[in-house]
Amino acid sequence: MRISEILQKDGITFSLEVFPPKTSDKYTEIAAAAKKIAALRPDFMSVTYGAGGGTGDFTAGIAEEIQRQFSVPTLAHLTCVSSSRDHVHRMLETYREKGIENILALRGDVPADGKISTDYRYAVELIREIREQGDFCLGGACYPEGHIECAHKREDLIHLKEKVDAGLDFITTQMFFNNDVFYNFLYRAREAGIMIPVVAGIMPITNPKQLSRSVAMSGTDVPQRFRAIVDFFGSSAPAMKQAGIVYATEQIIDLIANGIRHIHVYTMNKPDVAAGIMQNLSEIL
Ligand code: FAD
Repeated sequence: MRISEILQKDGITFSLEVFPPKTSDKYTEIAAAAKKIAALRPDFMSVTYGAGGGTGDFTAGIAEEIQRQFSVPTLAHLTCVSSSRDHVHRMLETYREKGIENILALRGDVPADGKISTDYRYAVELIREIREQGDFCLGGACYPEGHIECAHKREDLIHLKEKVDAGLDFITTQMFFNNDVFYNFLYRAREAGIMIPVVAGIMPITNPKQLSRSVAMSGTDVPQRFRAIVDFFGSSAPAMKQAGIVYATEQIIDLIANGIRHIHVYTMNKPDVAAGIMQNLSEIL
C-alpha cells in the first residue's frame, strides 16, 4: 500500500523505523528484531539504508519480509551520494521486484574521505530521477532545526521546497527533542508553500551514548529539561530506558494534542521500546 494513501486516513498514523545490519552475519538477529516490531502492527515501517550504499539488499530483504509476513506496508530508504546511477537503478529494480511501493529518497551523509558519486550531489536529483520512472510513492527528509551543513534555515527550506516540487508525496523530520522547534518549522514550511504531509520523527533516547552520537551527527538541540533527565538517569540502564520511553511518549501526546497527525518513531531496533511507547498510547492511537 502507498504511504500517501495511509497518510490520508482519518485519525493518527503511527509508524516505526528499523535499520538493517552492516554485515550478513547479523542479518537473522536484526530481521528477528524487525519482525517483533512489525508484530506491533504500526501503520507502516521504514527500513533505513546503510551509509555507503553497500547493504541495500539487506534493506530490501527486511522490508520485503515485513510486508509478506505481517502485511505492514514498508518504506525502503535509498541514498545516492555514494552510489553510481547504475547501482541506484539496480536498487530500484530490486525494490520493484520485492513489491516495495514506497521509497524515502535521500542524499546520504558525505563520507569522511569526502569522496562522493559523480552521478549525484543532492537528494533532489535522485527524487527527479525516480519520479521520471513514475511508479513509486516518494518521501524525503526534512530538518526542523536546519540541516547541519546548511548555514541558514531559510536556505535549507528553499532546498526542501525544491525537493517537494520535484515530486515528493510526504516528508519525514529528523528527530527533535523540543516540540516548539517542530511547530515553528511546520509554520515556516507551510508559509513557504510546502503543503504535503509532514511526518514527525521522534527518537526515544535510552542511553546517554545514543544521545551524544545522534546529536553529534545531526546538531539537534537538547533542551535543559531533557539534559537533566539524561544526566540524572543515564547511569542506570533500566531507569534511563523508562525515562526515555516516557519523554518520547510525552512528546507524542503533546504533538497529537496540538493537531499533529503523523508520528514516526525511530526504534533503534528495540521492540521493547516501541512496545512501551505504544502501550503508553494505547487509548490514544
Ligand atoms: P539533501 O536534501 O540533498 O540536503 C543535503 C544538504 O544539501 C542540505 O544542507 C541542503 O540544504 C543542501 N542542498 C540541497 N540542495 C542544494 C542545492 N541545490 N544547492 C546547495 N545546497 C543544497 N542517511 C542514511 O545514510 N541512510 C538512511 O536511511 C537515512 N535515513 C534518514 C531518514 C530521515 C527521516 C532523515 C531526516 C535523515 C536520514 N538519513 C539517512 C540522513 C541523511 O542522509 C543526511 O541527513 C544527509 O546528510 C542529507 O540527506 P538529504 O536527503 O536530506 O539531503
